[in-house]
Amino acid sequence: MKEAINESKKRTAVCIVITAAVIALSLIFIAFTKLGSNGRIAYVYSDGELIETIDLDRVTSPYTFIVSHNGGENLIEVRHDEIGVISATCPDKICVDQGHIKDSSLPIVCLPNKLVVQIGKNSDSDVPDAVAQ
Ligand SMILES: [Zn+2]
Repeated sequence: MKEAINESKKRTAVCIVITAAVIALSLIFIAFTKLGSNGRIAYVYSDGELIETIDLDRVTSPYTFIVSHNGGENLIEVRHDEIGVISATCPDKICVDQGHIKDSSLPIVCLPNKLVVQIGKNSDSDVPDAVAQ
């Protein structure tokens, strides 16, 4: 009789441990999934070629870099969560006027300098194809 009680207590303990483990794993999984979906990646293309991939969520302090193509230059500023062209040698300056972008709705395109800056999610495999067209 005593052994039977012990056995049932053991089973209850095992059940609690398993339940706790499942809950913990679910929480970890949810945390990772959330991080993944929030991860915004900026893709910088020069003449159709991917030259920079920037994880905007990991940018802690703003920085700039220059993309050159056929003598044309675009000065790109990267900030936490956003990216934009802050100065350019192109005549129309449409890319500069557009300011910083935060999402994938409207990519920055500088036709004269053949520059494209697009934001996509980490798992978004369609992004490079869409720009290559
Ligand atoms: Zn431009």
